[in-house]
Amino acid sequence: EYRDVVTSGEVMAMFVATTPGPLQDVEHFDSRLAGAEMNVSVGLARLGHSVRYLGAVGDDPFGARARHVLASEGIDVSGLRTDPSAPTGFQLKNRVHHGDPTVVYFRRGSAGSQHAWSSEIADAVTASGHLHVTGVLPALTPQTRDCTFRTIDAARRAGTTVTLDPNLRPSLWSTTAEMIEVINELATLADCVLPGLSEGRMLTGRNSPDGIAEFYLERGVEQVVTKLGEAGAVLHTHEGTRSEPAFPVRVVDTVGAGDGFAAGWISGLLDGLPEQDRLRRACVAGAAATTSEGDMDGLPTRTELDELLGR
Ligand code: ADP
Repeated sequence: EYRDVVTSGEVMAMFVATTPGPLQDVEHFDSRLAGAEMNVSVGLARLGHSVRYLGAVGDDPFGARARHVLASEGIDVSGLRTDPSAPTGFQLKNRVHHGDPTVVYFRRGSAGSQHAWSSEIADAVTASGHLHVTGVLPALTPQTRDCTFRTIDAARRAGTTVTLDPNLRPSLWSTTAEMIEVINELATLADCVLPGLSEGRMLTGRNSPDGIAEFYLERGVEQVVTKLGEAGAVLHTHEGTRSEPAFPVRVVDTVGAGDGFAAGWISGLLDGLPEQDRLRRACVAGAAATTSEGDMDGLPTRTELDELLGR
């Protein structure tokens, strides 16, 4: 069955603790779901697009919950495997009042039990208009990398367009030269790359959005959208440059902004919006994602998006 978008990625249970300082007595505890690709899928589904999600969870309550949440957002989870060989991925995020949180992850991909290439992936990608992937899985192991290359290759053969969000968080991950090489190789196979500014600097060794974009445009990418946080975003194509200021909101937590932004951008691509309107939709969806603590709570529905755009 045809879908507008197929996303391929990881699903994780997320536990959020808030500690007042270096002592480990937690003053607040919360349990959520996480995963960049999942956030983008939810964002797209809320904007009215049909989405199929490819991935794997363990045979446990967290996996069941993730499946339920995705399905209740209207996402096709027929490509979300339940695989008892490893538990559902999780992240434990420790927020402190000042400074960056510390995060520990269990990634199924690192355990080698997620995302082996299969004919189901090829079929799902072929039966979709667009594929969205991030750099998280391919950066993990040779197996997840191989699977991502093949997934993108299948998309290109089928004429399915591809967006890549590198999603390497310089503040949270130690990124190796090998990871950078893999992500850049993947990027050159995508139609559109969506780096953050610090990420783009790390990946390309260039300092400015112009330099970052030039690096990818020279390597055959058609559109480079550089996310600039509260300064908005800038689009570079072979034809020229457009920028859009951030949409003003009351910010609660900026984690997940990039995923909301990607959902808005892909939604605009699918709807055939002109470039500036596409950037604006992406900035509104990214801003909306910052208005709540959870990664996906703030992602707007189509009606909410229209209200924000009209205000
Ligand atoms: P990432 O989450 O990938 O690091 P950014 O922080 O640049 O990416 O955020 C992605 C987009 O979300 C930005 O381009 C912007 O449109 C929007 N955004 C991020 N932070 C804010 C903010 N403080 N106010 C309004 N919009 C924001």
